[in-house]
Amino acid sequence: MAKKTVIIPKVLFTGEGFSTGMAVLMENDLIEAVVPAGQLPAESDYECIEASGHTLLPGLIDVHVHLTMCGCCSPRQHMMKESDELLLLRAARNAQALVEWGITSARDCGDRNGVTFHLREAIKAGITPGPDLVLTGPPLTNARGHCYFMQGEVVDKEHMRARIKTAAKREADFIKVMLTGGGLTPGTDSLSLQFSKEELLFLVQCASEFGLYVAAHAHSPESIALAATCGVRTIEHASFADRQKGLMTDKAIIQQLVDNNSIVVPTNVPAVNAVREGRQLGLAKEVGISSAEFLSNRRLITRQLIEAGITLLSGSDAGATHVSFKDIKGEIKLMQEAGLPTEMALATATSLAADKLQLEKTGKVAPRHLANLLLVKGDLRQDLDVLENIAGVWKAGKRIK
Ligand SMILES: [Zn+2]
Repeated sequence: MAKKTVIIPKVLFTGEGFSTGMAVLMENDLIEAVVPAGQLPAESDYECIEASGHTLLPGLIDVHVHLTMCGCCSPRQHMMKESDELLLLRAARNAQALVEWGITSARDCGDRNGVTFHLREAIKAGITPGPDLVLTGPPLTNARGHCYFMQGEVVDKEHMRARIKTAAKREADFIKVMLTGGGLTPGTDSLSLQFSKEELLFLVQCASEFGLYVAAHAHSPESIALAATCGVRTIEHASFADRQKGLMTDKAIIQQLVDNNSIVVPTNVPAVNAVREGRQLGLAKEVGISSAEFLSNRRLITRQLIEAGITLLSGSDAGATHVSFKDIKGEIKLMQEAGLPTEMALATATSLAADKLQLEKTGKVAPRHLANLLLVKGDLRQDLDVLENIAGVWKAGKRIK
């Protein structure tokens, strides 16, 4: 027999805009209809959830997480010590945390050894709870390059092709490449390129032959420009970190991002958390500025990207140093502080993310979409912090919390 539920929240965020006085009808795994609450028949076979004082919105999408990382003070040391079996258990726990915080889809931007592919199977089979996963497996990096310990090192083009082929066989959704070094990996330089233009063009071409797009980790202005002009679809971090100037944007690079329809995932949460907790951020140290200066520059850069009309998506970098699996809220808030209206800031983690990453039937409260829903206590129009007041999470119509 069909399971039918109707939720009547005070406020509805559809993924695109706010409304009040609406009712959302679910049947099995799908949203069946969104209708004015006054039009509901008095008698029906629906289980009715009256949620006055609450906001209902689509389950969130975090487009940049690392399920096999611990999110504590030393994710690299943990990962280097742990077996794949242990990492799989860790990833399962992290996936459960995500979905319990209302994140019903997540894109993993680099695991170790393809552990997350096993996790995705387990989630699909109902063995363990978690979001729908968009996966890449180990990120491609050069010999002893950034995150080499995730087992994605490539030494030449043949090696690159072989790794991409393996990812495609595992049904990866995209290929992640570490275009610069990063703070997590001692001995790498966040401001130097790990691959040449020719190598990146080869990688993007090879990935496209397997039907996969490329996401690039890029901190320096040079790496951001290279990613934009070589066909990379999503640019991760895009820190614009420069050793002489700290952080800087460059009008010419912003124009390249516009011209190439680049999508930027700023991942500002690590800086937000570092400032809140009074810690020095590794990348800020590398460019010789304080975490607070780093964060205020990041806000300015994010504002410039918004003003240029570049598509931004919310990714928390959950799993990285001091970033937990509920931290997507911090990213949405920063998008708002940097100038996006509340609806659009929320869209970067709902409808826009689903649209740009081609995640079907999710990211919106609309008919024929999956009933991936988050119910929070409070009025989301007034305060994004109410995203933490979780009253219910549904994934494909099944109540998780
Ligand atoms: Zn990351």
